[in-house]
Amino acid sequence: HYDDLLKTRKGRLSPALTTYYSKPLALHQGHKQWLFDVDGRRYLDMFGGICTVSVGHCHPKITEVVTEQLSTLGHVSNIYLHTKIHEYAEKLTAKLPGELKVVYFVNSGSEANDLAILLARAYTGNFDIISFRNAYHGLTCQVMSLTATSVYRYPVPQSPGFYYAMNPDVYRGIWGGGACRDSPVQTTRTCSCGSQCIAGINYLKQLEEVYQYNIPKGRAAAFFAESIQGVGGTVQYPKNYIKGAFDLIKSYGGLYVADEVQSGFGRTGEHFWGFEMHGVVPDVVTMAKGIGNGFPLAAVVTTPEIAKALTKAQHFNTYGGNPIASAVGIAVLEILEDDDLQENSKQVGTYLLLELEKLRQRFSVIGDVRGKGLMIGVEMVTGDGSTTPLDPGLMLKFWDRCRDLGVLLGKGGYFGNVLRIKPPMCVTKHDADFTIAVIAQALEEIF
Ligand code: PMP
Repeated sequence: HYDDLLKTRKGRLSPALTTYYSKPLALHQGHKQWLFDVDGRRYLDMFGGICTVSVGHCHPKITEVVTEQLSTLGHVSNIYLHTKIHEYAEKLTAKLPGELKVVYFVNSGSEANDLAILLARAYTGNFDIISFRNAYHGLTCQVMSLTATSVYRYPVPQSPGFYYAMNPDVYRGIWGGGACRDSPVQTTRTCSCGSQCIAGINYLKQLEEVYQYNIPKGRAAAFFAESIQGVGGTVQYPKNYIKGAFDLIKSYGGLYVADEVQSGFGRTGEHFWGFEMHGVVPDVVTMAKGIGNGFPLAAVVTTPEIAKALTKAQHFNTYGGNPIASAVGIAVLEILEDDDLQENSKQVGTYLLLELEKLRQRFSVIGDVRGKGLMIGVEMVTGDGSTTPLDPGLMLKFWDRCRDLGVLLGKGGYFGNVLRIKPPMCVTKHDADFTIAVIAQALEEIF
């Protein structure tokens, strides 16, 4: 059975698709935070289908609403009124602050960011867009240029009008920045912070230069940022940086777009949206992944005034806000509330972060532990006190071993040396203890 799956995978699916682990895992079933492979072996899923399964695998309420909706009205497209899309639009926008009350439903994070680019350009009449080096915003042809990392670049011309700021990474970046990030755990790479973060100020100066030297006539369309970088390795920015970046894009007449694809829907614990930790209210919010617990659902939310810019020409997609997708979206919002999952993210996430920090103090190959709530990164290094990334072969061995011991972890960062922990938000303290025990055992065996 396993060999047949592998054969089909190799022969019939695009070779562009990669698989995790030295021997790909073939999964058959999911339940809450647990996954079962084709041989019935159980794993604790600490990566949630790439930070996507927010309320748990195969949640009975989602199964129920999908079954019910599918047998009532499966698809009509958004050219007709149907109750679910309207009910969902009300419920979703109620979660957003200020004037963020108009939603455009799409099907993936890339599509949401692509639309946000169009929206920003149509509304401002400006063209240029700024994002972070090391950011990941998706991989459609245009969004690939917003995603600023050579790992995902092909030798083809990039889309025009995209400029990149130095990544304000307080661990790996050139200025460090201890005691600067919004996390229960601080980096050991300190900077001499007084009342304001020096690293943050330096990175903002660099951002200002990006505008100064690239943007003609002081007019830009948008600045895009993830509230915590996800694929880039759970990278956090110095405190106050995002507020500064927000003010800067405003002074250039552009929009602030918050990519909440990973950091939204309560994952960071303290707040429902990641941007809240930075004290800004964006002009546009893009969301996907956790919004649908794995169902292809995504959205762009903006203000009524900005939304009007999309009436300058027709804009359409077939599936956005489809009745089943909307029913799932509503159920996810309800489950988050009923099961108190944001609070659980905060409690279990903080506990996990503090326990991982204890491991960092024991094992020199852990260079940095960071994140907030259940959006956690563990950066693996050579262990000589430098920030040199751990050798990929050793990283793979360690990661494989965690899997063999029953815990699935994600991987990310430019060098692929950051463990990413983003489980379904129903994980328990007991699961956190199991994860720590497995990581500790794998570290002891290998390093
Ligand atoms: N933005 C962020 C922050 C993401 O992490 C991702 C996916 N990893 C995307 C956008 C793109 O989402 P999708 O894969 O659904 O197109």
